Amino acid sequence: MNYLAWNRPPSLPALARAVAQHPKPLHLVVCLPDNALPVFVPSETPSPQESALSQAIGSKLGCIQFNAANALYDILPGVHLWLMPSETACRLGEHFPQPVQWQTEAVPQLPPSDVKPWFKPPEHRTATRAIVIGAGIAGAATARALAQHGLPVTVLEAAEPANAASGNRQGLLYAKISPHNTEQTELLLCGYGHTRRLLDALLPAQENWGGSGVLHLNHNDEETRRNLALSAQTHHAHLYRPVCAETASQLAGIPLTQSALYWPQGVWLNPPALINALLDHPLIELHTRTPALAAEYRNGVWQVETAAQTFYGSHIVYCMGAHSPLAAAADVSALPYRLIRGQTDLAA
Ligand SMILES: Cc1cc2nc3c(=O)[nH]c(=O)nc-3n(C[C@H](O)[C@H](O)[C@H](O)COP(=O)(O)OP(=O)(O)OC[C@H]3O[C@@H](n4cnc5c(N)ncnc54)[C@H](O)[C@@H]3O)c2cc1C
Repeated sequence: MNYLAWNRPPSLPALARAVAQHPKPLHLVVCLPDNALPVFVPSETPSPQESALSQAIGSKLGCIQFNAANALYDILPGVHLWLMPSETACRLGEHFPQPVQWQTEAVPQLPPSDVKPWFKPPEHRTATRAIVIGAGIAGAATARALAQHGLPVTVLEAAEPANAASGNRQGLLYAKISPHNTEQTELLLCGYGHTRRLLDALLPAQENWGGSGVLHLNHNDEETRRNLALSAQTHHAHLYRPVCAETASQLAGIPLTQSALYWPQGVWLNPPALINALLDHPLIELHTRTPALAAEYRNGVWQVETAAQTFYGSHIVYCMGAHSPLAAAADVSALPYRLIRGQTDLAA
């Protein structure tokens, strides 16, 4: 696998040459020293490859953020673009399994930071098949990500996909973040950009998602304080910005009395449509009406019991939705699993 790195955004012809000259899969790692939206300067007479790159990158830049790595997968087939803000650019070893090949002077690298024990991945164990329990948004997204990495996945769903908390006809996609750069903020911003780009790729018709932004209203003192602190982060002005009540009213098309934080790339979406698209992958085997009744790890293999069959896998992922009535019906106490402050339930 090739990891080519630049200490700042290269010109488009330089990127296009790298794409043409190296085998795929190819990872292009571009550091962003100024934590500003990158500009890839085109040539005066762009080649078809350069034009394709320009179009692919341009359409994916809207949701990049400067708290953590931005992974823009498949900007062209087999070509992945990593945009690394300065804090991440000096710790590339935490992101890639092998050293990058610098195409410019290297960015000095720091030793890896101390990883808290709960962020450490488990010890290496060969993955042959994952069993994902639950086909809500969490299960479908997990199954898809594993399948895209080449791992066969069995999804066991007690009823039908998207029947519980993820079964609402409409949900909002934006990021409800704190103004502090915590791991949770990084995760939420990365997830926001990733999901927004995924919608373009998975649901191109836009029948099941769309809109022109999300307004997070300052509806109480706490929200107002948080949104004001976020508004001060001007390097993210392309992601979210403050608007007064008058502008909010114009954007929403209805009278509003509150000011807001505006997320211009935020959208509404139909979660069941996204879930069905996520599950539609040749490496995903979906079993509906198949509640998991018990699970046990024996001789290095997970064995999951259902009424009719036992399923086997090297790894198991619980995505059953805390407090799900179906989880209760399936007697989760029989599973090595515990609900922790869950917030999901079946909407009336
Ligand atoms: C009214 C409401 C509005 C919301 N609005 C938004 C929003 O606008 N934006 C947003 O981001 N989030 C929103 N959320 C939150 C979001 O919907 C949930 O966080 C998300 O759907 C949870 O997904 P999940 O996959 O974890 O759980 P679920 O969607 O509940 O899926 C769990 C699945 O596990 C299955 N299952 C349970 N037990 C078993 C078993 N033993 N064997 C096999 N399968 C099993 C269930 O049948 C179910 O399909 C909202 C939630 C609600 C309730």
